[in-house]
Amino acid sequence: MNILIAEDERRLAEALAQIMKNQKYRVDLVYDGADGLDYAMSGRYDAVILDVMLPRMDGFAVVKRLREAKNATPVLLLTARDEVADKVKGLDCGADDYLTKPFSPEELLARVRALTRRRGEVVLDVLTFADLTLQLSAGALRCGEKSVHISFKELEILKILMSNPQRITTKETLIDKVWGSDSNAEDNTVEAHISFLRKKFFYLGANVGIETARKMGYRLEEKRRDP
Ligand code: CA
Repeated sequence: MNILIAEDERRLAEALAQIMKNQKYRVDLVYDGADGLDYAMSGRYDAVILDVMLPRMDGFAVVKRLREAKNATPVLLLTARDEVADKVKGLDCGADDYLTKPFSPEELLARVRALTRRRGEVVLDVLTFADLTLQLSAGALRCGEKSVHISFKELEILKILMSNPQRITTKETLIDKVWGSDSNAEDNTVEAHISFLRKKFFYLGANVGIETARKMGYRLEEKRRDP
């Protein structure tokens, strides 16, 4: 698998590259955001590890530009600041996951494995619920004529919810299946993604909501239309 690393601290960049190479990933290394964007736009990477604080263009801007160009390559953001605002901003601009420095090699590898897991899987390409259609290969969520891009994590969450429409899916199950049981993802990470999905349903005008069931999990619901 091909991994792009964009990190301006050279020693860290080289350490990260070595960690990935030890696991047989092929790695390209760039040291600023503008190069990161150029390389990632090629679409030949299975995942991009992207530092937030980069010269020439920050990580947020890189992801935003990628998504605007309909490039769906999974992106893992590296942030030095463990602040909710940064995480939300990162996810909001289209990143799939984030990792706060400092982190262990195991944590990094677990995140990258989770992000690249869908590659090579044989799955149904289209899932539907009420008036919503999720097209997996395109990472697109549609309702009628409208369509939005959804991030890799959002797609994984929605895939589970749409495949189990009658059941409550717990936050624990989502963390296990979407982030991996060895990750340090927490309930509020799941909540942030659910909140983005709700906004996208709203934007699409979909007749679908995500019900929070007994504070323990989620279930899709078809909204009743007023007569
Ligand atoms: Ca940096």
